[in-house]
Amino acid sequence: KSFKDLGLSEQLVEACENLGWASPSKIQAEAIPYALEGKDLIGLAQTGSGKTGAFALPILHALLEDPQPFFACVLSPTRELAIQIAEQFEALGSVIGVKCAVLVGGIDMMDQQIKLGKRPHIVVGTPGRLVDHLTNTKGFSLQKLKYLVLDEADRLLNEDFEKTLDEILNAIPRDRKTYLFSATMTKKVRKLQRACLRNPVKIEA
Ligand code: AMP
Repeated sequence: KSFKDLGLSEQLVEACENLGWASPSKIQAEAIPYALEGKDLIGLAQTGSGKTGAFALPILHALLEDPQPFFACVLSPTRELAIQIAEQFEALGSVIGVKCAVLVGGIDMMDQQIKLGKRPHIVVGTPGRLVDHLTNTKGFSLQKLKYLVLDEADRLLNEDFEKTLDEILNAIPRDRKTYLFSATMTKKVRKLQRACLRNPVKIEA
């Protein structure tokens, strides 16, 4: 199967070609058609499987149809991963002018506030710093969010982000799509899944 066969818009198929992605990885081939149908997803996948593309491409596809600020939020357990995710969104979305903000700890709040002031389409962050901005950054809200991604959910939960995740869930609409990716399916991940996802489709890399 090709990226085009999966139902992605022409600009995104070209973006994949420009990155040298010859064909979809297994997780991408399985996830993207369901995502384009509007399903919530649980992806069992490790880094290196192409999982970032599996959630970024359908989000960008939907963004093209309805370009709005603060369209999607991706939660990552670490700074480094958050930066990598934002880089992939920017690489895939450059043809459509996507704007991303990275909200991670250990960096001045002010630079991130300036980025948020530009009303990005995609926000990628670690939970603690995201909540700091939701609390302290004027004009920043996720009340119109359409997509939530919980990446490396098992690690998100290990880092003791549970209370912080609750605060984020309380600040975003119930009516949204949610994609949860995890390398392992633990009890805590299942609990998070029940709290966050609606009739999800489960796929494996
Ligand atoms: P990830 O598992 O999302 O961290 O992606 C791992 C690496 O694979 C990243 O450097 C991506 O740019 C690359 N990648 C993702 N999807 C594809 C694909 N379909 N073909 C080739 N490389 C890919």
